[in-house]
Amino acid sequence: MASKILSEFLNEHLTELKNKGLYNVIDPLESSNGPMIKIAGKELINLSSNNYLGLATDPRLKEAAMQATRTYGVGAGAVRTINGTLHIHVMLEDKIAEFKHTEAAIAYQSGFNCNMAAISAVMDEQDAILSDEWNHASIIDGCRLSKAKIIRYKHSDMDDLRTQAKQAKDSGFYKKIMVITDGVFSMDGDIAKLPEIAKIAEEFDLITYVDDAHGSGVLGKGAGTVKHFGLSDDIDFQIGTLSKAIGVVGGYVAGKKDVIDWLKVRSRPFLFSTALPPGDVAACIKAFEIMISSTELHDRLWRNGDYLKKGLKDLGYNIGQSQTPITPCIIGDEMQTQEFSKRLYQEGVYAKAIVFPTVPKGTGRVRNMPTAAHSREMLDQALAVYEKAGRELSVI
Ligand code: PMP
Repeated sequence: MASKILSEFLNEHLTELKNKGLYNVIDPLESSNGPMIKIAGKELINLSSNNYLGLATDPRLKEAAMQATRTYGVGAGAVRTINGTLHIHVMLEDKIAEFKHTEAAIAYQSGFNCNMAAISAVMDEQDAILSDEWNHASIIDGCRLSKAKIIRYKHSDMDDLRTQAKQAKDSGFYKKIMVITDGVFSMDGDIAKLPEIAKIAEEFDLITYVDDAHGSGVLGKGAGTVKHFGLSDDIDFQIGTLSKAIGVVGGYVAGKKDVIDWLKVRSRPFLFSTALPPGDVAACIKAFEIMISSTELHDRLWRNGDYLKKGLKDLGYNIGQSQTPITPCIIGDEMQTQEFSKRLYQEGVYAKAIVFPTVPKGTGRVRNMPTAAHSREMLDQALAVYEKAGRELSVI
């Protein structure tokens, strides 16, 4: 018989979430996640995907995935350390290292998984982690799993980081201290101050860990935030996902050979969860080949990002601190933000509302993610909708 205590718990909490407007409603797509999407028969301009370079629907990646699937089947059949490592997994890791300008790389089944794997493989209860307060949920969970002492510093506040680093070091309590930051913060599109972080790390002998899920393919001519600042030799862990700019699925760590060797023997998802499917691996390899051979998609992404950003700013939207194509329109009030996003939807633009607890209270926003695959006409159409809906709802 089903548990009574469980159903009481679920009923109480689900009702509470629904009453507070915090219950996620999922709109299944009836199309690919390209620049235009279809939901419930309605065609919409898509400004909510992480498919930054448009590679998720690129015919070259699809062909690579189909060929590999025909050759190797749909599944890897085992974890990497038993016999789930195909030679294409190794090729992918070599490509990632080439792309990231590091000695080596290791691939995981997702970016989320990667943070759970890597942090807990090197940090433990005798250690401390300095973590930016805006870091992604997977970093937070990875830190918790490690059992290290978690010390949050104020978002991108280098004075606070330095103070906390000094305190942690001077206390003598910790064996190792790590500093972790997103490379690009996904809710505001701002870039971590990596040169200052690297300097503080050197001063206090901190291990450096950058999750560049939103910077890879976007900054540093595509190679990411670490390359953008010329710090490829200074950051110990460069994390990335294969699901955003790369367009497929999976995650990785790039770094020195000894770091990667350690992860191969100690990180639990590598040891105990089945390897990435061959079709996905081949599609990722193709994506890296495309990005290494040309910056065309990267350049188009930036042209589109700059165009949309200027258009929204000229209309009078508050686009916050964005330094990348990710462009929020900060509305403030949660209910008004939800209303505004619904209005955009009715007018043919899909730009999801992001509200507390994902962002601080009173900073509700509609977040725009233009991609290389959007045409100028799509962006103009979206801006016309932003103008109409914004005036009607008095948000501009
Ligand atoms: N890190 C960051 C900073 C992210 O934004 C995300 C995805 N939202 C992840 C990790 C997780 O990546 P994936 O979707 O590949 O699991």
